[in-house]
Amino acid sequence: TVRIGVLALQGDVREHRQALEAVGARTAVVRTAADLAAVDGIVIPGGESTTMSRLLGVFDLFDPLHDALAGGLPAYGSCAGMIMLASEVLDTRPDARCLGAIDMTVRRNAFGRQVDSFETDLEVAGIDGDPVRAVFIRAPWVERVGPGVQVLARVPDGAGESAGTVVAVQQGVTMATSFHPEVTGDLRIHRRFVDVVRGA
Ligand code: GLN
Repeated sequence: TVRIGVLALQGDVREHRQALEAVGARTAVVRTAADLAAVDGIVIPGGESTTMSRLLGVFDLFDPLHDALAGGLPAYGSCAGMIMLASEVLDTRPDARCLGAIDMTVRRNAFGRQVDSFETDLEVAGIDGDPVRAVFIRAPWVERVGPGVQVLARVPDGAGESAGTVVAVQQGVTMATSFHPEVTGDLRIHRRFVDVVRGA
């Protein structure tokens, strides 16, 4: 069985561990380079991306994590985790760093004050059955994806299938969602990531 680490510097670590364990993975917290070396995949939780960026520096974990991702360690990030995995972040602090594991530009806190936080049902590519309940909490959106990035879900804007705001993506063994499946009890996004890790 696979062993999946959850980056545990800040954010909703416990919810991700519970979801991963519910779909049959073993989990571990990651706070050091040695922790990181012992996992088959990593989840970067929701939380606050500029704080996470700072703490990665404080814990001497930025470079090891960056290098592990560049070396093909599977990763999944929700919300702040999506921001951390991006190659470019808009509307963040000038000193905030991101890990560049997905070729995409993400805008932080993008949905704005009126709809700061909201829930909706989304079609997600590769996830059959009922739509996925998506919880957005001061969420980012994806403004640009590179050619190697598959769009998994959009929040529709009424202008047809290929329109709408990109909120879930995958590039190879790396996935990211603007929303928080770890708080809904719907395990399908975590199951999909565990399948990615098993196949990697
Ligand atoms: N707004 C947060 C950030 O900038 C993300 C919020 C979240 O993870 N729910 O990192």
